[in-house]
Amino acid sequence: MALFNKAKPVLKCTMCDKTREEGCGSADYHIEQISTDEPEWLPEGYRLSAIGEYTWFCMRCNSYPELKWPKESGASSGIMVHLGEAHGIGLLRALPGSPTSFGMRQLSRVPPPPLRKPGFNDRVQLKDWLDLFGTVGATTNAQIDPVIITLARFGGSGPADELAARVAAGHIAADWIPSLVNRPWRWMLRTAQEASRRGDRILSVRAAMFICHWAEQFGPRLGPADVDALGLGDVPSAVHVDAALLGLSDVQHLPPDTAVAWDTQSTILARDALPTMATRLQLLHYDGKQVPLEALATAQAISARPAGR
Ligand SMILES: [Zn+2]
Ligand SMILES: [Zn+2]
Repeated sequence: MALFNKAKPVLKCTMCDKTREEGCGSADYHIEQISTDEPEWLPEGYRLSAIGEYTWFCMRCNSYPELKWPKESGASSGIMVHLGEAHGIGLLRALPGSPTSFGMRQLSRVPPPPLRKPGFNDRVQLKDWLDLFGTVGATTNAQIDPVIITLARFGGSGPADELAARVAAGHIAADWIPSLVNRPWRWMLRTAQEASRRGDRILSVRAAMFICHWAEQFGPRLGPADVDALGLGDVPSAVHVDAALLGLSDVQHLPPDTAVAWDTQSTILARDALPTMATRLQLLHYDGKQVPLEALATAQAISARPAGR
C-alpha cells in the first residue's frame, strides 16, 4: 500500500505563489479586517465606512475590490472569484469573456502582505522581548539599539541598510518600506490583544504600557536618521489609542499588587498603572484622537476616585 507514502503536499498560496515556509501558504492570509487605520493602503473614506468588515489586496494585479465583506468567509470566496475571473487560476476559473462579479480599483504602489494573525510564538517573543528590554534599562545607545532592532525585525522591518539588501535580493518591494517601519507596533498591539483574549492580562498590559510609553516619551525624540538606524517608526495614532484602551480595560482585572512594567530601576504596579492609563486616555481624547465615549467615561470615573481606592 503506497497510499500514505507520498510526501505531504506543499500548500502554495494561489494569490502570491508562496508556501508557508516562504511566508504565506494560503490566499486567506491576504484577508484583512478593516479598522480606522488598517489596512493602510485602503483609502481612509473606505475604511471609516466599513469598520469591522473584511477586504483583501490582489498582489497579482495591484488592486483591491470595490466590495467589502462582513465575514472572513465571504472575503475568502471573493478572492477565489477574482482569481478565477481575472487571472484564470484556482477552483473558480471563469470562461473567457464572462462578466466579472465586482469591480477592482488599482493602486499605484504595492503594499506589503498583511501581518499574520499572532500565534503562540508571537506571545512568547513579545514576553521575552519585554523581559529583555526591562533588563537593559536606560543605558547607552550601543546597548539599547540592538534590542530595539530585534523588535523592528519581529514586525518585518529592520535597519535601512538591511531593508535595502532585502529589496536588492527581491524579497521585498521598495514600495513597502514606508509602512514596514510602523508594522512592529501593529505586531505588538495585535499580539497583546491576542494575549488578552487568552487571559494573559499581565502580558497585554505590559505591552500596552510599553506602546504608550514609547509613543509619548521615546518616539518624539527620534529623527529620520534614528528611524533608519533602528527600523522602527512612530507609533501610528490608532495603535496608540487602541493600546491605551486595551491597557485601561485589562489593568482593572489584575490584582492591585501585580507588576505590569519594570526595568532595572523601578517597578510599576497595577494600582499605579490604573490612574495613569485613565489620564492617558483622557489626554488622547483632548488631543483630538478618536476615543470611544464609553471608555472615556470609565477613564473619567477612575480619575475622579479619591486616591488609594
Ligand atoms: Zn499569499
Ligand atoms: Zn488580481
